[in-house]
This record gives sequence, C-alpha cells and structure tokens, in this order.
Amino acid sequence: MKLAENLNQIKAILPKTVTLVAVSKTKPIDAIQEVYDAGQRIFGENKIQEMTQKWETLPKDIEWHMIGHVQRNKVKYMAEYVHLIHGVDSFKLLKEIDKQAAKHNRVIDCLLQMHIAEEDTKFGLNTLELQQLIETSAFKTLQNIRVVGLMGMATFTTDTQQIKKEFASLKASYNALKTTLPNISILSMGMSADYQIAIDEGSTMVRIGSSIFGKRN
Ligand SMILES: *Cc1c(COP(=O)(O)O)cnc(C)c1O
Repeated sequence: MKLAENLNQIKAILPKTVTLVAVSKTKPIDAIQEVYDAGQRIFGENKIQEMTQKWETLPKDIEWHMIGHVQRNKVKYMAEYVHLIHGVDSFKLLKEIDKQAAKHNRVIDCLLQMHIAEEDTKFGLNTLELQQLIETSAFKTLQNIRVVGLMGMATFTTDTQQIKKEFASLKASYNALKTTLPNISILSMGMSADYQIAIDEGSTMVRIGSSIFGKRN
C-alpha cells in the first residue's frame, strides 16, 4: 500500500489543471499494477522495448507516454498504442512518427522537446530550431501527428532560482508557440525534485517517478 499512499499524497497537492504522468521506467509489473489499482491510468517510460512489454501485459486502458529520447528506427514498435510522445526534437523524427502512425490509421500526439538545461547531455531544440521546425513547409503536410505542446527538463541542481529561470523560459516558448499553433495545450515540465517550481511556472503536466515508485537502481 506504500505506493498508493505516495500517489495519493502527490495527487492531493497537484492542482486540478495539472496532469500526472507516473514514471514507471525500470519498475516491475506488480509495482505498476499497484499504482494502477490506486487509480492512476497514465504511465511514462523512457525505453520503447520496455514500454511495449508492459503495454502487452498490463490493462489496456493505460495511457502510455514515451518520455525518453526516441530512436527513429524504434518508433514502429510503439506506433500502435503510444498515447503521447514527449521527446520529439527533430523534423526527421516527427516525419517517421507520422509515417508509422499512418500505418495504424492513427494520429499520434507529440510534444516538442526544448533544451533548457545547462547540461548538453539533455536533448532538445533551441528557440530558433523550434521556429524553423514549425515553419518547415512539410510540417503542415503531416496528417498523422499532432503537436500538442512542449516538454523540457531543467538542470539537475539545488539552485532553485536557476530551475525557476529555465522553466520560465520554457513557458515563454510555449506562449510564443501558441500564436502559431493555437490548439496546443500541454506544457510538460517538472519531475520529483522540481515539480512544485514547475507548477508555479505554469506546467500543465508533471512526470513523477521516484516520489511514487521509490528510488531507481
Ligand atoms: C526519469 C524521468 C522522469 C522522472 O524522474 P523522477 O526524478 O524519478 O521523478 C521525468 N522525466 C523524464 C524525461 C525522465 O527520464
């Protein structure tokens, strides 16, 4: 019951406008089932193969979110069922998602990932690249993907002012993007360590793993 307790504690403090993605990467089926039984239906994974095995085993009303970096040659394995892809950082990847979604007669929702952190190990677009991507004429021809918002990860630091600044910059990109794509509605930012700051800065979706499932190995 510990995991259900963790889940309920987080849900109690999240504003109603913020969607919770329970990040279950590396965690076993029985742990996910426990959180599912406590009412959670949205889970996030960062490896396509692992997510697909879990999708095959667990209840079919789970919404699976891919939150990790996506390799183009693996998109086909999740195209049948993935609910939202958070980490889209190139037009080539978007095109591949569109192609694989078409094979399943689906429209796959995607978030464009922005690079807001100091570390260069975190993937994502800068503001110029974002602008160029959505202005690509071919972007408008993609029928089987829908860009529904932005995602970003802040620097791993205890400096809360820095984290706040990075989330504010992502929110500014989101507001700017809304003038071109008025239907976007998702700003995915905030993890276990920084989701309170992210919510203060306008997050609509938080991705929380260790605060629900405990530490990963
Ligand atoms: C692992 C991961 C999370 C969750 O991290 P926690 O610190 O365990 O909450 C969120 N977002 C992404 C992209 C991740 O890879």
